[in-house]
Parts: sequence; C-alpha cells; structure tokens
Amino acid sequence: MAKAIVNPPKRTLMGPGPSDVYPEVLEALGRPTVGHLDPYFIDLMDETKELLKYAFRTKNQLTMPVSAPGSAGMETCLMNLIEPGDTCVVCVNGVFGGRMRDIVERIGGTAVVVEDDWGKPVDVQKVEDALKQHSDAKYVAFVHAETSTGARSDARELVALAHTYDCLAIVDAVTSLGGIELQVDEWEIDAIYSGSQKCLSCIPGISPVSFSERALEVVQKRSSKVKSWFLDVNLVTQYWGSGKSRSYHHTAPVNSIYALNQSLRILKAEGIENAWKRHHENHLKLKDGLEELGLEFAVEESHRLPQLNAVRPPDGIDEAAVRRQLLDEHNIEIGAGLGALAGKTWRIGLMGYASRQENIDKLLKALRQVLSTRQATAG
Ligand SMILES: *Cc1c(COP(=O)(O)O)cnc(C)c1O
Repeated sequence: MAKAIVNPPKRTLMGPGPSDVYPEVLEALGRPTVGHLDPYFIDLMDETKELLKYAFRTKNQLTMPVSAPGSAGMETCLMNLIEPGDTCVVCVNGVFGGRMRDIVERIGGTAVVVEDDWGKPVDVQKVEDALKQHSDAKYVAFVHAETSTGARSDARELVALAHTYDCLAIVDAVTSLGGIELQVDEWEIDAIYSGSQKCLSCIPGISPVSFSERALEVVQKRSSKVKSWFLDVNLVTQYWGSGKSRSYHHTAPVNSIYALNQSLRILKAEGIENAWKRHHENHLKLKDGLEELGLEFAVEESHRLPQLNAVRPPDGIDEAAVRRQLLDEHNIEIGAGLGALAGKTWRIGLMGYASRQENIDKLLKALRQVLSTRQATAG
C-alpha cells in the first residue's frame, strides 16, 4: 500500500505573503522535535529572542514570538494595553487598519478612526487633528506597511506625534520587518508586532512582538484582567520571559521556533541594512520591467513599499484569469486586490527570500507571455 504523503506543488510565492521560505528554514523545520522545556530548547528560545531584538532594533526585554499568526500579535498588543473605556486613535487606510479598529471595539475601547483613501499613507495632520479633538486618547495605532494597498506610512513621525499628545504608539510591522527601515528604540515605538511569513521568509504561524518598558508598565498596572488568557503577556512571560526559570504556559510550536530562529540567523548574517537595501533595489528592477509591460503602479512613488508592489491590471483583461494562468502554467503566485481594491489591483510581493533577481526575471517573462496571449484573444 502506498504511503500517504503530502505533496504540495512547488510554487514561487510572490504575493502578499506567505513569501518564498528559505530552503534552510524548511530544513530546520524538519529537525527532531524536543520538549518545550528541554535545555536545548531553552537556549534556543534565548537566542531567538536576541535575534528578534536585532531585527526590531530594540533592547526591549519583552521581545518574543507569539505562537500564532500576525493577527494574534495584533491582538496581543491591543488586548494587553487597551482596557474597556480607553480611547485609541486608529488609522485606517486599508484592511489591516480596519482589523485593528474591530479589535479595539471588541475589547470595549473607543476607536477614534482616522481614515485615508486606500493606497494613500496615513495623513499625519489628520491624526493630529483627531488627537486635539480627543484629549482623552491614550493610544495611537497604525499600520506601517499596509499590505492590502502597498502604501507605506511615516512611522517615525506618527510615533513622535503620539508622544507629543501623551499617547502610546502601537505599530503593525507585519510586512515592514526585514523589508524596510524599522527602528523600534530610535523611533520609541511602544508596542509592535510582526509576522514570520512576510519579509522574514519563515513559515506562517508565528508573530514576533515587542513592548517598551513604558508599555509594560501600563500592562502591569491594569485595573482589569486581560480578556484573553492565551495572549496575556503577564502569563506568557512565565514561559518566554527573561531568566532561566521557565515554566509551562502553553506548548511552544517547537519546530516552528527552529524555523524562525533559522530565518533570523539568515537575516542577521545578511545584515538588516543590507536586507532593506536589497528590497529597495529589487523593487526598482521589478518596477522597470512592469512599466515596460505597460503596467501602472497604484501607489505614488514616494509611498511605495518595495516588498509589496500594487499595480493596476490592464483595462479589459480578466485579472483573475491572469493570476490563475500564472499559477497553473508558471507556478507563480501573485496577490489579488483585497477589500475595496478587489479586482482593481495585483499585489506583487518581493518579500525576503522572494526578493531576488531570479524571481523578478521569472515573473516578468511569465507575465509578458500570459498578457500577450490574453490581449491577442481579447483584441
Ligand atoms: C499579513 C498581515 C497581517 C496578518 O497576519 P496573519 O499572519 O495573516 O494573521 C496583519 N497586518 C499586516 C499589515 C499584514 O500584512
């Protein structure tokens, strides 16, 4: 009898995530599982936290991977900080800002929403107006790299503004970490979360988070318990906190931590500034090729994310059929438009390991071929 073995197709992942996983990461994933309190694993946890501090550019003690995807990192930051009745200015310029708003409201907080058009960065002036009008606001939450639109917001400026109005800044860095400049300490970000499957090119399912001393103090002085047992950092740190006295909180996804550790080692070996530079340079190469094909970007040049290129499909073309053909005939995945941009954009990711010349060449060649046959039949 044949053994039942999972055998997925070999895709080139150039969408909004997951991105191509480093081969070394997949190898690390398959190494023998040890116990979640094994001395070997405890050392690996310490090392992984140090590597995360490197990636985030922080000395924050509370820097750790949450055992769940990016959305759980989002909930970790929002649920630990915000108590029922607290006011949080939430910047919404795409899907993920909208998700933050939903979570703030589920907690029982008041979300003061500052909206910007999809594809535009967060307007700092509008945030300031909102802060002036709502002097009770305690937090400002925003998405650094809005993966749903391809727009980058000015994190440094938004954090500084939040502090001017005595608010803590909560930052979504799921797509920015490892792909564009991000400085947790220098910019004085208070709470931040990311994801394993975007520019870190690790497998999906892990969310690195980091809390400043100031944010941690707020969490420790809460008047009510955090509404989630699993995400309560006061409890999780019994296991992931500092010192050697680790005790069981939940069973860590041991092999996924091997994978995360491996991807962070690769990032450190490259050097984070070099990784930012590589993402930028490859974006420019892809841009040249896409413009040669007559495609236009959906985001203004000054706010474009190098790791997530949002372009408009040509008029009159069945954009979903093009994506399907790229997948079926060329094994390349690119992303569809999300939410308000469904059917209106393609999202081409050059994240982490996927940000390479080889991938750019492969995609441009495939896209040229698919578009020429489609436009010939359409015409
Ligand atoms: C992907 C993404 C998330 C959610 O991460 P999941 O791992 O899918 O839960 C949140 N914010 C941004 C900006 C993202 O790109």
